[in-house]
Amino acid sequence: MNRKGFTLIELLIVIAILGILVSLILPRFADVREDANVKVCVANLRGLVSAMNIYEVKENVPGSWDWDTDAPNEAADLETWGYLAAEPSCPTGGTYDLLGVAGSAAAACSEGGTHVWP
Ligand SMILES: [Zn+2]
Repeated sequence: MNRKGFTLIELLIVIAILGILVSLILPRFADVREDANVKVCVANLRGLVSAMNIYEVKENVPGSWDWDTDAPNEAADLETWGYLAAEPSCPTGGTYDLLGVAGSAAAACSEGGTHVWP
């Protein structure tokens, strides 16, 4: 007798092997996703600092982040005043603060950790 097809045992072995492979790959996807979120956040911080620097040059107020109370203090201000096309948002839900560090423009994400630039 010549039967075609797989036995139940063969199918169960294939399913078990696929399950093991998926369990090995899924944590990798989570790491890649987290890395991508951090990179988006860092790019947003760079964009914010660039917009702050453009504000300083256009308004002729270099180093204004330590003394100029009229300077934008939220990312939304930079968008409202036309220095950003859109207010960025951290992909993991953090919020951005605009800072002056020794007269230089800087931005920080409330998530902290690796959400830092430079
Ligand atoms: Zn962030």
